[in-house]
Amino acid sequence: FITLPDLLHVRATEQPDKLAFIDARRETSYEALDRRMSRVAGSLQRDGLRKGDHVAICASGNSIEYIEAFFGALRLGVVVAPLAPSGTPDSLRAQIKDSSARVLFLDADTAEHLGDALFETAVARVALDGSSIGIPFETWLNDADAANLPAIVAEDPFNLIYSSGTTGAPKGIVQPHAMRWGHMRRAIYPPDAVTLISTPLYSNTTLVSLIPTIANGGTVVLMKKFDAAEFLSLSERHRATHAMLVPVQYRRILDHPSFATRDLSSYRLKFATSAPFDPALKREVIDRWPGGLIEFYGMTEGGGTCVLLAHAHPDKLHSVGQPLPDHDIRTIDEEGRTTKPGVPGEVVGRSAAMMTGYHNLPGKTSEAEWYSPDGKRFIRTGDLGMFDPEGFLVLIGRKKDMIISGGFNIYPGDLEAVLLADPTVAEAAVVGIPSASWGETPVGFVTLREGADADDTLVEDIRAAANAKLGKTQRLSDLRIVPELPRSAIGKILKRELRDMYVASTG
Ligand code: ATP
Ligand code: MG
Repeated sequence: FITLPDLLHVRATEQPDKLAFIDARRETSYEALDRRMSRVAGSLQRDGLRKGDHVAICASGNSIEYIEAFFGALRLGVVVAPLAPSGTPDSLRAQIKDSSARVLFLDADTAEHLGDALFETAVARVALDGSSIGIPFETWLNDADAANLPAIVAEDPFNLIYSSGTTGAPKGIVQPHAMRWGHMRRAIYPPDAVTLISTPLYSNTTLVSLIPTIANGGTVVLMKKFDAAEFLSLSERHRATHAMLVPVQYRRILDHPSFATRDLSSYRLKFATSAPFDPALKREVIDRWPGGLIEFYGMTEGGGTCVLLAHAHPDKLHSVGQPLPDHDIRTIDEEGRTTKPGVPGEVVGRSAAMMTGYHNLPGKTSEAEWYSPDGKRFIRTGDLGMFDPEGFLVLIGRKKDMIISGGFNIYPGDLEAVLLADPTVAEAAVVGIPSASWGETPVGFVTLREGADADDTLVEDIRAAANAKLGKTQRLSDLRIVPELPRSAIGKILKRELRDMYVASTG
């Protein structure tokens, strides 16, 4: 075991001039990054912080300063809480408090968004963008390195990272250094990798791609924020070899008019995770974009990861692949018995990379844990799935999203697949709406493909065509065409918002 900051120090001596990060404004070598990390550690020490103390980062875009603050704090054994600035001011104030942060790294945009809520937190502020909302980063940075660095062991916390908040309020997840150590060793990012990062740095999705790239000595190109056109030009300019993207980003990139004219021949592997990935879209990525496609299925909580080498298994694109070696993933029924292949159950997983628990939420932690009959600790995913006879996991959907209508279980994914097969439909989401006669009833939301006209006949046509293909108990009782689906910052469809929106509109 070696910590990420220690490994980066080794890389800095091996390849001092190699570029570690490139962002829109500057670039930094491994040696320069190592030096700045030490200065961050020294500055936090000067401010009285010690191993085990917490800091938070809440910034509106990705930058090298974000990385320096994050990884520099780790060098002192300080726990970092990277926060999603997209939350409401109230929820962010609550998270800053919940994280017990003593210093908040932020920028002018976040400060403006937070408004008065920021001042109510009474936390020390450092402005990563040099603005006057806190002590400007360069002024705050000490010249001297930290003295007497503490020993860090595998069980020590690395970061306190909040779950995506797809199903409810985000939960603070304590990830130990041991968990990141598992990510650092992912050898699919070779030393000459150039990884293009366009998802936010506060998301675990980003970190599981960024950390192995630099742990192995590669270069990370950071986009401040995702934009399909810019993604394509940066890919070309930096000869990107690897990228981690969420499914909706694949759709946007492939649909961009300049896609066909770009030289993407430098790509070796693209990765995907976070949300259901339409098999037809995976097929399109494999066919139109050079290099392989690998999908991951897992959670910020860890537990177990499934991986699908999509380009190598064209007949398994409806699945999320097989468990990684040493990852024990099972599907269990309500009584905790492992279900057979083909029989749905809740997905549970265990591996060396697991959260310690939810921060300040012991009740939620025990709800998330499941112990096998021989006493091993697993994490519940809240997802329903089943293994096929070859050991590939096929996801059915989130347990919370399952619709129970007239005593029948309806899986929204089945209905969404039928809607997506309609040539006029671009995106689809189905949710359960309370119903006096059925308990719940399925209602669909779709966005249209370019060129389709949203009129009353079209919506009825799409619904009638879908219902003709669906079983009697599955039929959509209503369908709406919307300009866009509500999504989280990482691109997940927020079904709870669709439910609320529908209920509010029908009174
Ligand atoms: P919250 O727990 O706060 O509601 P979240 O579960 O979305 O948010 P994450 O830890 O970011 O937070 O996401 C893990 C979840 O994302 C999984 O439980 C699963 O539902 C979904 N997911 C991850 N990878 C995939 C994938 N490849 N295909 C389909 N769904 C995926
Ligand atoms: Mg979750």
